[in-house]
Amino acid sequence: MHEPRPSKNLADIAKGDLCAGCGACAGMFPDKLAMEMSPPGFLRPRQIAPLTGAEDDCLAGFCPALGQVVETQGRTDDTLWGPYLEMQTGWSTAPDLRFAGASGGALSGLLLHLLESGDVDAVVQIAASADTPIANQTVISTDRAGILAGAGSRYAPSAPLAQLGQLLASGQRYAFVGKPCDIVALRTLANNRPEVAAAFPIMLSFFCAGVPSETGGREVLAAIGVDPEMVARFRYRGQGWPGRATAVLKDGSERSMSYHDSWGSVLSKHVQHRCKICADGTGKAADIVCADAWESDAAGYPVFDEAEGISLIVSRTALGERLLKEAAAAGRIETAAFDVAHLAAIQPGQRERRRALLARLLALRLAGQPIPRYRGLNLWGAARQNPALRNLKNFLGMLRRVLRHRLSDKG
Ligand SMILES: Cc1cc2nc3c(=O)[nH]c(=O)nc-3n(C[C@H](O)[C@H](O)[C@H](O)COP(=O)(O)OP(=O)(O)OC[C@H]3O[C@@H](n4cnc5c(N)ncnc54)[C@H](O)[C@@H]3O)c2cc1C
Repeated sequence: MHEPRPSKNLADIAKGDLCAGCGACAGMFPDKLAMEMSPPGFLRPRQIAPLTGAEDDCLAGFCPALGQVVETQGRTDDTLWGPYLEMQTGWSTAPDLRFAGASGGALSGLLLHLLESGDVDAVVQIAASADTPIANQTVISTDRAGILAGAGSRYAPSAPLAQLGQLLASGQRYAFVGKPCDIVALRTLANNRPEVAAAFPIMLSFFCAGVPSETGGREVLAAIGVDPEMVARFRYRGQGWPGRATAVLKDGSERSMSYHDSWGSVLSKHVQHRCKICADGTGKAADIVCADAWESDAAGYPVFDEAEGISLIVSRTALGERLLKEAAAAGRIETAAFDVAHLAAIQPGQRERRRALLARLLALRLAGQPIPRYRGLNLWGAARQNPALRNLKNFLGMLRRVLRHRLSDKG
């Protein structure tokens, strides 16, 4: 089939491998772009008709692949963690949501409160794909059962903005849960389009170490000795904290592997390039963002022993702060104090990626690769927290990776 020439922006994004796979472009221009699974298993837009110059400019305005702007607006602005009003820990007071949730089920508890208080008509979230148990699909939840079914983190590609056009046309008010990059796109659109702001009055996110490809999910299955055809259901974690990556087979039996091994030894090796140069793994554009509030050991490293789940809850906007207070007053969420000084120890992946980012971007720039434009993300401040030698190692590591990639493309 004849493919139209890619738009200038999409061509740049493809050249720099910058797409995060949020689906906002397909959601905004559904007659011209469609999301599809591309090797090695990432969601990418395919152009089905040419974009006009004006549409291409519009895309550059909201596409998170191309960059992000953060404005502090009087909030505390932590060099690594970004602007926020309050950080606490918390968990859903409903035992089933807390158990099913990735950490404390705080996101699910907040979503349930939003639905039951009538603040929103429905929730846009991600759940397991009905066809491919290791993959994701976007779902619209309108009741408790839907939220419970969507609880838990799914370490696979998701494009929750791909149906944006339909959602806007529905006239409903949605709570939106997505990756930090999904929220960057949606927030930018909402800031510029009243109809988007009206349809998505609240945006929730989670800390995100990056999106692994579907190949990563298949490798987890291989590691537990399971053929994809045998799988009826698959969860990446949850049912405990952190819970195990678990395949429920068609014969009813289960095979599983620990979170430490599934994420640490398999999935983290399949994370897309864009996520390795992400300046915002912590949802800086969201109203509330949740994460794992791991305990740390004597050496200051996170401990992944099974426990009752506890989420970190970061209120980034006045709206988010109010929502959390209302959900707590309604008995949906229980909270406890949290000292931000502990965060760098329990989130080593986020900490190191932030500190390494400037060096990685400089290497890509030197190699002539397109890179995202970041403003207000404290790149220099974060890099200064690294010793010079570590910055040099990150710089050389990224340079080597680009050059090796080029050589293998030629060979
Ligand atoms: C790819 C990925 C990377 C992550 N990296 C980190 C990290 O580095 N550090 C950290 O502390 N936490 C990370 N998390 C988040 C963490 O696993 C929990 O989501 C967080 O602790 C909140 O848990 P909860 O129990 O409050 O949420 P829950 O109540 O379990 O709710 C989770 C919500 O997230 C939605 N969701 C799940 N998977 C996806 C997805 N792929 N795309 C969009 N929405 C999704 C669900 O629909 C649900 O609404 C990551 C999650 C994902 C999906």
